[in-house]
Amino acid sequence: MTEERTCKVCGKAFLPNKYRPNQEICSSLECQYQRQLDNMKTWRGRNPNYFKYKENQDSSWKETCRQRSLDWRKEHQEYLKLYREEHRGRHRDYMRKYMRDYRKKRSMLQAGAGEKSTGV
Ligand SMILES: [Zn+2]
Repeated sequence: MTEERTCKVCGKAFLPNKYRPNQEICSSLECQYQRQLDNMKTWRGRNPNYFKYKENQDSSWKETCRQRSLDWRKEHQEYLKLYREEHRGRHRDYMRKYMRDYRKKRSMLQAGAGEKSTGV
């Protein structure tokens, strides 16, 4: 026979569920809700960062979002800057190479023209 127990939350006597002989809290909604909260607290205690953001969905949550997007933008800007610098460098190299080739071709043409002009 199941023994009457005292609810840990409300302090009232209750009969534990026969499928859950270790039940420590009565089946009233309030106490069950309280039990869930306690479970959450215990769980949060074990996972302290899980609700860090969601918990404060007020200004601090927005602040977190803002800070995150700022961080992202900063990183992105840095990336863009690097990209531009690299691109500019590449463009400069390309132009340098292009001009070198152009001058080489031109001097070769001139040399060829000079050879031709001297005649045989
Ligand atoms: Zn209770």
